[in-house]
Amino acid sequence: MNRIANNDIKYLTGVGPKRAELLASELKIHTFYDLLYYFPFRYVDRSSIYKIGNLTGCDVPYVQLKGHFINFTENGEGARKRLNALFTDGSGIIEVVWFNRVKSIKQNYSPGVEYILFGKPTLYNGRYSLAHPEIELSKPTMLQRGLQGVYNITEKLRNRSISSRTIQQLVENMLKILPTDLNETLPPHIIAENHLMPLREALINIHKPVSLQHLSQAQQRLKFDELFYLQLNILRYTKQRTLNISGHKFNVVGTPFNDFYNNHLPFPLTGAQKRVIKEMRHDMGSGRQMNRLLQGDVGSGKTLVAFMTMLIAIGNGYQTCIMAPTEILASQHYETISKLAKGIGVKVALLTGSTRKKEREILHSQLQSGELQILIGTHAVIEDTVIFHNLGLVVIDEQHRFGVAQRAKLWKKNATTPPHVLVMTATPIPRTLAMTVYGDLDVSIIDELPPGRKPVHTMLQFDTHRESVNRFMGEQIKLGRQIYIVYPLIHESETLDLKNLEEGYEYICDVFPNRRVCFVHGQMKPAEKEHQMQLFASGAAEIMVATTVIEVGVNVPNASVMIIENAERFGLSQLHQLRGRVGRGADQSYCILMSHPKMSADTRKRLQIMTETNDGFEVAEADMKLRGPGDLEGTQQSGLAFDLKISNLARDGQIVQQAREIASRIIENDPTLSNPENRILNQNLKALFSRTINWSLIS
Ligand code: ADP
Ligand code: MG
Repeated sequence: MNRIANNDIKYLTGVGPKRAELLASELKIHTFYDLLYYFPFRYVDRSSIYKIGNLTGCDVPYVQLKGHFINFTENGEGARKRLNALFTDGSGIIEVVWFNRVKSIKQNYSPGVEYILFGKPTLYNGRYSLAHPEIELSKPTMLQRGLQGVYNITEKLRNRSISSRTIQQLVENMLKILPTDLNETLPPHIIAENHLMPLREALINIHKPVSLQHLSQAQQRLKFDELFYLQLNILRYTKQRTLNISGHKFNVVGTPFNDFYNNHLPFPLTGAQKRVIKEMRHDMGSGRQMNRLLQGDVGSGKTLVAFMTMLIAIGNGYQTCIMAPTEILASQHYETISKLAKGIGVKVALLTGSTRKKEREILHSQLQSGELQILIGTHAVIEDTVIFHNLGLVVIDEQHRFGVAQRAKLWKKNATTPPHVLVMTATPIPRTLAMTVYGDLDVSIIDELPPGRKPVHTMLQFDTHRESVNRFMGEQIKLGRQIYIVYPLIHESETLDLKNLEEGYEYICDVFPNRRVCFVHGQMKPAEKEHQMQLFASGAAEIMVATTVIEVGVNVPNASVMIIENAERFGLSQLHQLRGRVGRGADQSYCILMSHPKMSADTRKRLQIMTETNDGFEVAEADMKLRGPGDLEGTQQSGLAFDLKISNLARDGQIVQQAREIASRIIENDPTLSNPENRILNQNLKALFSRTINWSLIS
């Protein structure tokens, strides 16, 4: 790219070796370029000065005050030592306080001299005070500064006298020398067609905006840059994959599929189910390997879709396999699929950690001979001893619990050509994110529930209203329904979690002495767990007290009430998954979120969303907006190719879309980016990668 940009930051005026070390370790700023791309997290208007006398209310924004210190006094001893000062601008007095750097503050600032303070006043005992404000000598030119960037600073930097203001100063020093040396990152036609601000101007304005309008254009341009390269990178891989990896070509739909569809289908398929089956039929007939992510809300009928897709593979003479994250889920799939397969003469088997050795041996030989057509199991199916005759399709359920490495292992289960891969997840991933993170998978969505489902009625209840909840439970049981009660696993201490759960169990047994209560948690022996689950599934037990082990898969249509204890400790997607355990039968279902009455506004907002919508995509979208995409369940391990410095996948959906379209057009015409007009794109992709890789090795 440019000459100066890659210079070590220590050579910038105002930095030097000591500060360079701090900037590197605290903010990952190693070069001029890194500083240039260290953007302000917000902006303040420094052209206006507040009057102390006009401060009102308890939530005052950041303000600028002009005046002088009246006095300084030291208080406290040792670690509790602090410095207090009174500051006035003639309209009133505000207290200023420092909890460290007492000595240097006292040396550097004197009473009577005019300063500008910048900070956020807080109301304490009826009086405003300002902790650790930024302080500058008041100069007449100061008010011409206008909009200024505020930079994130760590505690350690602050203690070493590097403030947001310091960063601002360093950026100014850099902007004096850098702009002439900056190369564009986008070809002229993209800039022109999309009315983007040139890079040089955008970088200047992101740090020192001429006006709010300039700032917004600068943000738009830099977000576009980031998202465009992210998309370009993903699409480049996708394209290469579709060009290079050949797959088994399934020429016919086949007899098993047709037989099942015409004679054994338990209910008419929904429109969405039909559509995604067609999508997969097309993939598997194309001669290329299918890599498809099937998303569908809990209860949308993914199992049936997976089964029918497997029938196509079987009809073409291939074997198939389903991998599920837990033994319980694998067994349930086995039961469902055995039933479905009964009438059409397809052979199904279950393989888990608890499959007996003898059974296992039979299974192994049937797999090798090709006699066995559907294998259902847990991780056990990827063990090296499991050898297929000709595996044509792999279905992975609940994708987020499997790592990428495990997926790759399944690929190798067919020695000549990798099997088609169908990944199913009920964790709805918003489209913008799926596009960006799972760019290497094609996405199918079942966006329609089977007919007749009633939305689950969701309520928020405080612990203090437990008795009315108990009464409600009693009524529902009298109506013949069953109830789940779920406790969170908090991970801090397993013994403590278990104690919580056990106490909850005992409490429920006390409240409902005449009812059968079963009890399930992750540390139980598989056989005991199975027994307890069975009690509930058969209807022998009316209440199940459990941890989140029931989160995935379990299907008991008569269970219509889900009570979630300490709901505030769960992620929204997890709450939604849990709620999906009810609402599977004909009765009105309920989900009650129990929580402590004292919760933060954010927590309340999160839980509120659950009561407002039953749509998993809406829940995920809202979750992502509140928590940011990094935290979204199911995406942690996938990661993005580069850090996003300015764009936000949740909020910038429109730019994601725009960037995606443009990137896709370019890749379509020039998959290897080797046309002269695209050379700049190739160079920048390389540069982005070398940056990511270099620094991650060092830090
Ligand atoms: P999930 O997508 O959560 O895995 P399942 O495959 O377990 O959902 O399906 C949930 C329930 O809906 C099952 O009891 C299944 O038999 C039923 N089901 C699936 N497809 C249909 C359909 N087209 N019409 C009616 N019920 C259906
Ligand atoms: Mg399922």
